[in-house]
Amino acid sequence: MSESTQERGTAREGGPAAFPPGRPVVLRGGTVLPMDDARSVLAGADVLVVGDRVEAVGPELPVPEGTAEIDATGGIVMPGMIDTHRHMWQTAMRGYGADWTLTQYFVWYYLESGRHFRPEDVHAGNLLAALEAIDAGVTTVVDWSHGLQTVDHAEAAVDALRSVPGRFVLAYGNIQAPPAEWTADPAFRDFVRRRLDPAGDMLGFQLAFDVTGDPAFPEKPAFEVARELGAAVTTHAGVWGATGDDGIRLMYDHGFMTPQTVYVHAASLSTDSYHRIAATGGSVSVSTESEQSAGQGYPPTWAIRSHAIPVSLSMDTSVWWSGDLFSAMRTTLGADRSREHLQAQADGNTVTHVGLRADEVVAWATRGGAHALGRDDLGSLQPGKKADLVLIKNDHSPVSFPLLNPYGHVAFQAQRGDVHTVLVDGRVVKHEHRLVDADLAAARREIEATVEHLRSSLGEEGWRKGMNPDIPETKILDNPYTYTDYRSSATHGG
Ligand SMILES: [Zn+2]
Repeated sequence: MSESTQERGTAREGGPAAFPPGRPVVLRGGTVLPMDDARSVLAGADVLVVGDRVEAVGPELPVPEGTAEIDATGGIVMPGMIDTHRHMWQTAMRGYGADWTLTQYFVWYYLESGRHFRPEDVHAGNLLAALEAIDAGVTTVVDWSHGLQTVDHAEAAVDALRSVPGRFVLAYGNIQAPPAEWTADPAFRDFVRRRLDPAGDMLGFQLAFDVTGDPAFPEKPAFEVARELGAAVTTHAGVWGATGDDGIRLMYDHGFMTPQTVYVHAASLSTDSYHRIAATGGSVSVSTESEQSAGQGYPPTWAIRSHAIPVSLSMDTSVWWSGDLFSAMRTTLGADRSREHLQAQADGNTVTHVGLRADEVVAWATRGGAHALGRDDLGSLQPGKKADLVLIKNDHSPVSFPLLNPYGHVAFQAQRGDVHTVLVDGRVVKHEHRLVDADLAAARREIEATVEHLRSSLGEEGWRKGMNPDIPETKILDNPYTYTDYRSSATHGG
């Protein structure tokens, strides 16, 4: 293609009208992180998207006539991020459990209040979570949807996911019934047949349930259903006080640990369990912010790195944290390094070179998720891959330069407000820091109705107590350097 064709073929313009379906898009002159094996950094490179695919990556690309052009200079172009474990329905209660522990979370959702959620409440939470995800450059989310008390709830969950142009996997779950029970329900089977496909492109399907470690292995029939349906199982494994090595051993002994299995958290596990996960090819979804605050166990990357277990990242639930993989990358690096220093210093040693690098957590947030989902077409930017990508660029931010170490910049400097443009499946879903064609007002109305419903169901006292757990007393230690009337009279004789 000639220079003049290229000039004629591109148009600098913005707004949703500039990106009709089918119009090719080129991002010009960014620092591109293709997330290839070499962890390349391509300065001043273009990414051309045609249809749902990356057509080309490189400098000064010729483009088809009519291609929309996005100026990526000064920015970073990287694959869309992938969250492998998010309870999207819980986004309706954003921030409510900021001071919870896992115990309080279990009491609130599993025992007391989870059953108050109606199908429309699951819809409201999923809709807001889905918008939040694409806004933050998280182009694929596994909706770990364990609030599906009825098939009507599941219909609502899928309706919400289908209404937002992100890529999702519905991990079907139901904390109000044992897995063997709800997976045997003909209504569940019928729903799956009608609305889900494990190999679905924009909407995949997994089964989500936990393994208690009961020697009778009551979850066995649910694993058999997953196998029959061809669906991967995702399971909270290695959660202090809830799931542990017994569950892993039962899964292993019955042949249910597969390369498709996703072990969420995988903290509080023995070396033997990590060996079983590694040997059977499964992956771990690490939710560092969750593990640090809620108490599933220490964020396990420092341990599982030495087992060569594939890692993906997740943020778990917006009832505590925001649906943002920048903070997940940042806290994962911090937790891993913190543990390394702590361990070494306990042994009287000094860490002079950290083991976990910034480029590795960026890979976990992109390729790691793609691997966990068996989606080799996601998580990297190479010709032929799906065009799910993010432009991080904020010309109004003093944090946007200098751009010396792009992986370090993504992991430690960038944040969701710097997400300038997002493409999912070749479609521009966010541009110039704004979601394209998203009805945030409608999402807000749904959320307000849900909050109102839950608040009235719980009553004002219950609502307030749920949000404000009792604070254990902090014992202030005696300080030998502090004079008190008592001490001064006792030790100095007045
Ligand atoms: Zn979870």
